Amino acid sequence: MSRSFVEFKIFVALNVTLWYNRGKTRKSYRNFEKGDFMEIIDAHIHRFAGGHAQDLARRAGHENSEEHLQSEYARQNIVGAVVMGNRSLEADDHLYPEYLRYCIGLDRSSGFDADIKQTYEAVERNLRRKNCVGVKLYPGYNRQYAYDSIYTPVYELAEQYDKPVAVHMGELAFASAHLKYCHPMTLDEVAVSFSKVQFVMCHLGNPWIADAAAVISKNHNVAADLSGLLEGILDFPAYVREQEGYISHIKTWLTYLNAYDRLMFGTDWPLANIENYIDFVKILIPERHHKAVFADNARRIYGLDF
Ligand SMILES: [Zn+2]
Repeated sequence: MSRSFVEFKIFVALNVTLWYNRGKTRKSYRNFEKGDFMEIIDAHIHRFAGGHAQDLARRAGHENSEEHLQSEYARQNIVGAVVMGNRSLEADDHLYPEYLRYCIGLDRSSGFDADIKQTYEAVERNLRRKNCVGVKLYPGYNRQYAYDSIYTPVYELAEQYDKPVAVHMGELAFASAHLKYCHPMTLDEVAVSFSKVQFVMCHLGNPWIADAAAVISKNHNVAADLSGLLEGILDFPAYVREQEGYISHIKTWLTYLNAYDRLMFGTDWPLANIENYIDFVKILIPERHHKAVFADNARRIYGLDF
């Protein structure tokens, strides 16, 4: 065998090895740089248009655009997200890029309760679609308790299509909405009545965290997302120092609850800075449960294929 042929074989082998390891090399580089390379799913975001949404995004250090969201997700290794629907029940108003799934949302601006029969027919048209992974309810904004019989057809449809019902619980964005409809305890009765339906208590019922823990602990068909616990962009080390009590309060009840297979990471985009949010949830959740809380639970609960 000639020397040049041996050199050629070494050259080919080296390049094949480099090509084969190209992804791994990138990952190990990030491992070194970022501390880990965990896949993340954002289980609670919104897609709002207009100036107000842009203000919210900028307050969080972001831009309210598709390009910016995609580049931030790529930077943080967020592989997909669940959009909490607002404003319209028309399936054609819920067309999203491949990395997004959605819950069809029944808020007042979607025409909910103007014609109940039409409302639920529209909900069903959405639930038949693969990229519609659940229903979102807004009891505080609609001023109807989650256990109000007006929602019964939603729970029946959710059971029929085997898709979860996410419910806004905890503080509200507008003063005109009513807090009494958003107390985590109001989810207890409905979780018992519809024991085959998977519920998601959004925002962990913040600030009623202890009550949320009681409802989640008792009802194994109730999960929670950890969105809505922070807003804007933060000087993170200063925030952690100043809000030590708040952080340890949440941590205390999550530890008490010990249900890390039912908690999901979510940012409530565009309301909070994504990087801050990841750092915050890493503080709340023991490291051995990161994979579950940052991705696996959302995959299982919302039946996601990314
Ligand atoms: Zn939200």
